[in-house]
Amino acid sequence: METPIPEISLQYTLRPANEYGIWTGGANGTMESVKSTSILGGLRFWTGALLRANGFDVCEDRNCIYEEGKSICSLCKIFGCTGLSRVCNLSVDASQKLFQPITKSKKYTELTNHRRTTDGKSPRYYFTQAYQCPITITISLHRPLLEGTFAIPREITTALYLMITYGTLGAYDQYGCGLMDWKDPHEAEHLKSLCLPKANPGKAACGISLRDFFFYKGQIQGDGKQAMAEIRYRIRDALRSPFSQELRHWFCGSLGNRARKEEASGCNYTLTIDSKGYMYGWGFYPTASNLPYQKFVKDRETVLDRVKKVLSDSDMAGNSLVWRECNSKRDTKGISEWPQWYADLLQSPWRMA
Ligand SMILES: [Zn+2]
Repeated sequence: METPIPEISLQYTLRPANEYGIWTGGANGTMESVKSTSILGGLRFWTGALLRANGFDVCEDRNCIYEEGKSICSLCKIFGCTGLSRVCNLSVDASQKLFQPITKSKKYTELTNHRRTTDGKSPRYYFTQAYQCPITITISLHRPLLEGTFAIPREITTALYLMITYGTLGAYDQYGCGLMDWKDPHEAEHLKSLCLPKANPGKAACGISLRDFFFYKGQIQGDGKQAMAEIRYRIRDALRSPFSQELRHWFCGSLGNRARKEEASGCNYTLTIDSKGYMYGWGFYPTASNLPYQKFVKDRETVLDRVKKVLSDSDMAGNSLVWRECNSKRDTKGISEWPQWYADLLQSPWRMA
């Protein structure tokens, strides 16, 4: 058992790494404030993925109920469920005191070199320009763990560290948003020192686990927006035949189609390019045949091979592409099992200086 975290409250200041800023949602496409719920939702997702990777069972859709004689999953023990509050509170302060509402951008990049076969028009990709000032995240302990310890769980600090370092915060991260930089690198070292020192060997639990994640980065020459639009176009195009439309929509996202009764779906990978031309992204593709992903699992290898190939096209990241994925031949550092991969992920710097 690792030692408890000494602090009962943690505070970190981050700033958006590029012009796309951070988007935390809002009614009718207008963001009125930086909402902690959006960041908390992401933190819950990453914590669940970390717990599953370490072999802990996590329920789907927080359906545990905390009452006498019933056991609850390890994620609900931290994030709460019916009858139980969260272990920690998370609040976000935006540095800009008078928050100006931000409306979802109508600006788009058009790929004039491509024509859709359906209507002959060029595909357009919208980019959001959201909140661009620093934010301060505070995590404070609210109640003791069910085991009695009064300390912020290391699963939370680890998930937050990985999310900031390798992932994104908030929404619209398929449109470039959510890449954050540390305002003070000492704070990054502090949070890293509070992470789980080791990962559990053994099997992952059912559901999306960190072992299913992939992270990538590389240097892009030329215009960032044009490259991001082109990459999204090429990935979608690479996932046509022999894959089903359902798989393509699930992986690349879809606006839905009311006439065909297809629901809109989010994207399984993120993509952004910072002001220096460095591309960063992450995503997940389940390895185990668990519902509702069962039907996609068999195509995992081919799909991710194709995604990696698009990113390493010579006019995209080329040889500069770095790909990280647990227990995979695609990983730039070679195949490694979960505990070794986790240790390396935690210790290796990720962002380009
Ligand atoms: Zn649960």
